[in-house]
Amino acid sequence: MKIIEDKKHIITRICIMDFDGTTIDSLTPERAKPIYKDKTGEEWPFKGFWGRPESLDMDIFDFKPLPHVKADYTKEAASNNTLMVSLTGRRTKLATKIEAILHANDYKFDKYLYNYGSDTLSNKIEQIGNLLKEYPTVRTIAMWDDRISHFDSFNGFGKSLVDCGILDDFKLNEIHNPQWTK
Ligand SMILES: [Mg+2]
Repeated sequence: MKIIEDKKHIITRICIMDFDGTTIDSLTPERAKPIYKDKTGEEWPFKGFWGRPESLDMDIFDFKPLPHVKADYTKEAASNNTLMVSLTGRRTKLATKIEAILHANDYKFDKYLYNYGSDTLSNKIEQIGNLLKEYPTVRTIAMWDDRISHFDSFNGFGKSLVDCGILDDFKLNEIHNPQWTK
């Protein structure tokens, strides 16, 4: 579904789905590095992980969706009044790889948003604000995210949007992914 400029006003709901551990059951560095060694014969050669394109290499790692998130996606994407957004803390330079993984798993979003700024939490909140400015007819937002340490902030932000009448409803679907502890 592609949102054409003059169809913007029909958007009343935005669904915002995180990537790592939410739409896709991607690997933490601890799980990924032994697989990298198995497949390439080399130790993971980089200092970082999340910023590396190699962490999204489909020839090395097997990327699968979280089935219950995929089921929610399918249900929500069926509505013409809903804007489907992929929002990740990964950086824009990884867009091609992220979108290839999502498309290979039959996710098609109206927008793919990446962290262009500071920390993931602040940037996600800023981008939700941007979406509300771009789509002023929106009345409800639903999010899917697995980062436990961000839950309180998202819920507080969503409540403030409802309390001041900007939204009728905000719901964070807290995705419990046993590989994350914080
Ligand atoms: Mg995540």
